[in-house]
Amino acid sequence: MIYTHPRDIQRSVDEFAHGHGYDRFDIHAALCDMDGTLYDSMSRHAKAWYRLITELGIDCHEDEFYMYEGMTGAATIRLLFERAFGTVPSDEETTALYHRKTEYFTQLPAPSPMPGAQHLIQSIVSSGIRPVLVTGSGQSTLINRLDNDFPGAFTPELRVTSHNVTHGKPHPEPYLKAMQMAQTGPREAFALENAPLGVESAARAGVFTIAVATGPIPLAALDEAGASIVFSSMPECDSLFPELLQCLNHFGRI
Ligand code: MG
Repeated sequence: MIYTHPRDIQRSVDEFAHGHGYDRFDIHAALCDMDGTLYDSMSRHAKAWYRLITELGIDCHEDEFYMYEGMTGAATIRLLFERAFGTVPSDEETTALYHRKTEYFTQLPAPSPMPGAQHLIQSIVSSGIRPVLVTGSGQSTLINRLDNDFPGAFTPELRVTSHNVTHGKPHPEPYLKAMQMAQTGPREAFALENAPLGVESAARAGVFTIAVATGPIPLAALDEAGASIVFSSMPECDSLFPELLQCLNHFGRI
């Protein structure tokens, strides 16, 4: 559901709960994507990918990389090779190519936290909810900045990265793994995402999925991917979060 009216907050919770047969929520964990959600980093990823892939002689558009957001780097490389050459590179070549993409990314100016994200994470923490990182990325450059930009929010034992999953998004594994780490079930968590593949992953894991349009991806694409509610910006999401949390935790208790 795309948020257009204050009543949509309650409606999105009702619709999600009825669709899943959940009678209660007791939110303890916030499963948070990183790129494009916590950090305004997607344009740099798209640029780094575009540079690598065109150097390899593969036709591509810079904007298409927004659609692959959430996939592991290896999965993105395999997809583009398959499309261009009908074959995929070896694991060693894939690792070397992803390393090159990472170098190109680090050569670009460092991304800032997404406007509104630091305040939202503060609200989440002060509501007694534990943030859990759920990223398809394995890039330590950004992961290592979390402690500075979101002090104390993402503890090392609550981080799902490309290093500890077999299947990247849109497979539900990253979100299932995050819930396992946080020792919560789907009624005790929600997801925060900005990309269709990430939304699909979270929705398939059975959690209430908040999608935020922070880049060129249309709101409708996030809705179609299975988002429980779609906000048009991070500041909008931040300002409506307290009400949304209250609706989730009061559901079935009135
Ligand atoms: Mg993202």
